[in-house]
Amino acid sequence: MTQAGSIRTITLDSLDPSALELVRHAQRARANAYAPYSRFRVGAAVRTASGDVYVGCNVENGSFGATVCAERNAVGAAIAAGEREITTVAVTATADEICPPCGICRQVLSEFGPEMRVLLVTESEEIAEVSLSTLLPVRFRSEIFLHKEKEG
Ligand SMILES: [Zn+2]
Repeated sequence: MTQAGSIRTITLDSLDPSALELVRHAQRARANAYAPYSRFRVGAAVRTASGDVYVGCNVENGSFGATVCAERNAVGAAIAAGEREITTVAVTATADEICPPCGICRQVLSEFGPEMRVLLVTESEEIAEVSLSTLLPVRFRSEIFLHKEKEG
């Protein structure tokens, strides 16, 4: 497993029950990934402020640009259920290395919890923990254009 300085490696049995449950949800979602082109399956699970869990998997498309990542599908499920705050996300892929969220997903996740806990789990269940603000230290914020509206 590769890791940067601010990413903490932890073991599965050291996870709190809530985090372990989230990892298991992500692993089950990964099994349902639709990845006929890359064969790279990804599952994600988010826990919201209400305590509920929503899952997503990557959904590829023959028109490759239409592919959607697991993280964004999990966020979409949470938002569709009326949730607005995500506290933790678990991401797992069919890889020996951790699979951090891509740039687009970091931005989408940050809309609903810029400081959320991020658990990255390899296929062999090695785990890295990091905060989203470490992965995306300078995010695009809606306050930028909302502030502009007030001026104009
Ligand atoms: Zn992504």
